Amino acid sequence: MPVELLGKSAEELRAFVTSLGEPAYRAAQLYRALYAERRFDFAAMTNLPADLRARLASAEGGRITLPRIVRRFQSVDGSIRYLLSIGGEDVKPAQIESVFMPREGRQTICISTQAGCAVDCHFCLTAQLGLIRNLTAGEIIGQLLVALEENREQLLPQTNVVLMGQGEPLLNYDATLAAVRIMLDPKGVALAPRHVTLSTSGIVPGIDRLAQEKIRPNLAISLNASSDEQRDALMPINRKYPLAVLLDACRRYPLRPREYFTFEYVLLGGVNDSPEDARRVVRLLAHIRSKVNLIPWNPGNLPYRAPTPESIEAFRGIFLEKGVPAFVRYSRGQDVFAACGQLASIESAIPLSAP
Ligand code: SF4
Repeated sequence: MPVELLGKSAEELRAFVTSLGEPAYRAAQLYRALYAERRFDFAAMTNLPADLRARLASAEGGRITLPRIVRRFQSVDGSIRYLLSIGGEDVKPAQIESVFMPREGRQTICISTQAGCAVDCHFCLTAQLGLIRNLTAGEIIGQLLVALEENREQLLPQTNVVLMGQGEPLLNYDATLAAVRIMLDPKGVALAPRHVTLSTSGIVPGIDRLAQEKIRPNLAISLNASSDEQRDALMPINRKYPLAVLLDACRRYPLRPREYFTFEYVLLGGVNDSPEDARRVVRLLAHIRSKVNLIPWNPGNLPYRAPTPESIEAFRGIFLEKGVPAFVRYSRGQDVFAACGQLASIESAIPLSAP
């Protein structure tokens, strides 16, 4: 049975090629062909000798299984969301989503780390799927490679990756970090660490673990509330890791010079968007090097309302007054449901009832 190669690290590929009786340096060539040159057909790996290419393509060799594009949805703003199919034969099949968003000299690619999600944030449609399964490192990096390859002709100079699609990345830690290491490896996809952002609902043991990593992405925390009571109601994970515990983990996180946390705050009209909320959040974030992304809610399939333009401005103004950088981010691709978790749930025709 061929060995799946996508998602393997340089060391794992070395073990694989030496098991075939090949010299170890062939692994570096294979690694380069896969991740730097995006060659997914052994015949196209012309940096390898022909006899090795033939062995790799044989039944005892390897295989490269990319997520398969089921549908493409093109937004009027240029974003493309992909519904992808993964798994098959020996791995549970599932559908996941990724989004390609080109803008001002860069593309931002949003990818999933799990199929479905167990975290149950009440404003998120993915939560209604429950957890289907963790993705493998190959399925995570594969989403990035597919999006880059699909848009090869019109790639902009910079690529940003956000791990904000389906799933909680820190609950699939090993596979997520294995994929991130390949993204950040100068011999792999070669993205700059500051261009890759991992977004968490606040899984404290995962944050502590990430703090120990030598090479790591930016960390974004999905905050969305100004008190435990409010956050318990929106994000039940807060009962396990309440605000004080979560923010303590942020305070002990060894930020590097010029590194900061991004706090994501979805503004839900009449729920968490009052000036008192803004003041409480400013107090919560005191002594944490942070910037805040305010994301006005898109009215849709869940029972929340959009904040008014005045409340958005007033909310942001309170952060700026206190010297906390705050930005308003409108979700891209709204017409193709490119906001967090809205894609596969619609495709799977999950009943979109109120949480
Ligand atoms: S917002 Fe993220 S962590 Fe929360 S349920 Fe949705 S996918 Fe999971």
